[in-house]
Amino acid sequence: MAKKDLIQKLKQSNLLGRGGAAYPTHLKWQVVLDARGSKKYIVANGSEGEPNVHKDFFILQHHANVLVDGVKQALACIPGSVGIIYLNKKYYRRFKKPLEKIIAKAPITVFEEKGGYLSGEETVVCEEIEGKLARPRIRPPFPGQKGIHGYPTLINNIETFYCVSKIAHDDYQQTRFYTISGDVKKSGVHEMALDLTIKEVLEKTGSWPKKDFFVQAGGGASGEIFLSDELDRPVGGSGAIVVYDQKKTDPYLLLYRWAKFFMEANCDKCTPCREGVYRLAEMVHKRMIDQAVLNDLFLVMENTSFCALGKSVPGPFRSLIYKIITPQKNGQKN
Ligand code: SF4
Repeated sequence: MAKKDLIQKLKQSNLLGRGGAAYPTHLKWQVVLDARGSKKYIVANGSEGEPNVHKDFFILQHHANVLVDGVKQALACIPGSVGIIYLNKKYYRRFKKPLEKIIAKAPITVFEEKGGYLSGEETVVCEEIEGKLARPRIRPPFPGQKGIHGYPTLINNIETFYCVSKIAHDDYQQTRFYTISGDVKKSGVHEMALDLTIKEVLEKTGSWPKKDFFVQAGGGASGEIFLSDELDRPVGGSGAIVVYDQKKTDPYLLLYRWAKFFMEANCDKCTPCREGVYRLAEMVHKRMIDQAVLNDLFLVMENTSFCALGKSVPGPFRSLIYKIITPQKNGQKN
């Protein structure tokens, strides 16, 4: 397919990146197509390091041929490009060989990332592929202009490439993959209409709980908390819904679990994130929420963290604390 045709089709389909940021795919592709470079890179990002998000695993397991076709479509669209399927350690061990069989002689390699959650961040992807430490770069320049080894680099999530293949073959049905987990009868990944609300996804998959519950939507660490009467809204983020039985769930333990995750996942590069997460962990471990301190922490983390990881930490904490722990006590010590 001519390159302009495919980018036009991506635009008409209104495809947004499925890694969580929801940036228009056609704009990203156009930047890389227009950028000057004797070589270009196409990266299918299968880092998927967030808890309770399994959609990329599902695609690798059931639709690897569609994913590889999506990368090949990008190679055909962007002259002088080579492809990389970038996988976390677990996925690499499991899918390297089957992927290489499908790839055959196409110029696509399968790469094993070394780090964890942060390794999915686009500039960290470039650093890792260059053999450097898993730390984010300052932006701009964005990878589309100057990515791996300084060459223009297109990085899209694995699900995005799945959709690209469907669009190229006129088979895209405006769907996305939802990961449902937690206190439900059956956890799993479901491909369903893109515009469903959280409530509709739970109902249509038979996952609507019979007991009092709340959910975390988007991702299993960065996702926001919603009460059961707040679910007429899109899932967002990476399409994950984690259901929590309200009686069984100790909110402080849940907060501490997130804090531990972010303490391990952050790269220690900048003070607001490194120290902020540590202070959050300290506070929730003591079960003493000082809301004035908490608000200062959130403000500093959201506004001064170097990368999206630190900026995204306050979202889940704020929503769980204000909706579940202190719904009536904003502004006071708990
Ligand atoms: S915000 Fe966190 S993960 Fe990002 S650079 Fe700073 S310490 Fe590292």
